[in-house]
Amino acid sequence: MLPRTRRRRIYEGKAKVMFEGPEPGTLIQYFKDDATAFNNQKRGTISGKGVLNNRISEYIMIKLGEIGVPTHFMKRLNMREQLVRQVEIIPLEVVARNVAAGSLSKRFGLAEGTVLPRSVIEFYYKSDALGDPMVADEHITAFGWATPAEIDEMMSLTLRINDYLTGLFLGIGLRLVDFKLEFGRVIDENDNLRIILADEISPDNCRLWDVKTNEKLDKDRFRQDLGQVGEAYQEVARRLGIMPEASAEPLKIEQE
Ligand code: ADP
Ligand code: UDP
Repeated sequence: MLPRTRRRRIYEGKAKVMFEGPEPGTLIQYFKDDATAFNNQKRGTISGKGVLNNRISEYIMIKLGEIGVPTHFMKRLNMREQLVRQVEIIPLEVVARNVAAGSLSKRFGLAEGTVLPRSVIEFYYKSDALGDPMVADEHITAFGWATPAEIDEMMSLTLRINDYLTGLFLGIGLRLVDFKLEFGRVIDENDNLRIILADEISPDNCRLWDVKTNEKLDKDRFRQDLGQVGEAYQEVARRLGIMPEASAEPLKIEQE
């Protein structure tokens, strides 16, 4: 494997850097400690976040693969990097919600914590310049971001992922309030376009509340200046049974 400095940097985002992978059709996803919120207006660093999100996302993607959800994850390479399958990203953020919080609470005047009558799936257009506006199916198809069949596929995958992850997190005393997914297109062995799950699943893009205390163990600690942000991410990793060696220690993560 080439050292990172010699690999071609394809894209640098807010939380990750994507490098050219060792084989065509692969990428290396590097997890940074940088955090942003409110469409880039708030910026900071959460020490050790990249290491934790790399592990948490690996764990979840592997579990989803085991229940038959196709994902981009191939293998973890080191503390901050994983090898993934390159996709053509569908420019949508797919949000699933079980409990009112964040922008949903604001939009409909719902008290944070209100349990929704059923899970709700929403689509947002991925555009920092426009502040990721919410979009309807009509916009998605009219502007050619995805076909009706792709919308159906993203909806059904998201519902499955939501059901599975709700149970997985409940098993470790966490309520999955909401989360964001990204999907992409790949060409399968029969030359057909297929949709797979891409990006990451971590406390950066989920809301996770302790079932007993309602304590927030996710990026809202950063957004709302609640403190102990890295510790919250570490607690999620500890409960998932990953990085158990860090369980009793305050956040102290080796940097590469
Ligand atoms: P942002 O672009 O929102 O700042 P990140 O810092 O997380 O986000 O950057 C990661 C970027 O890589 C995102 O734009 C995401 O859509 C994209 N991406 C994630 N997985 C893949 C993949 N398998 N292939 C191609 N692009 C991907
Ligand atoms: N989310 C995300 N990236 C975004 C916007 C939202 O990962 O650009 C996640 C967020 O962490 C939460 C869910 O999607 O788990 C719903 O977020 P909401 O629309 O409430 O956004 P907020 O306005 O609170 O960022």
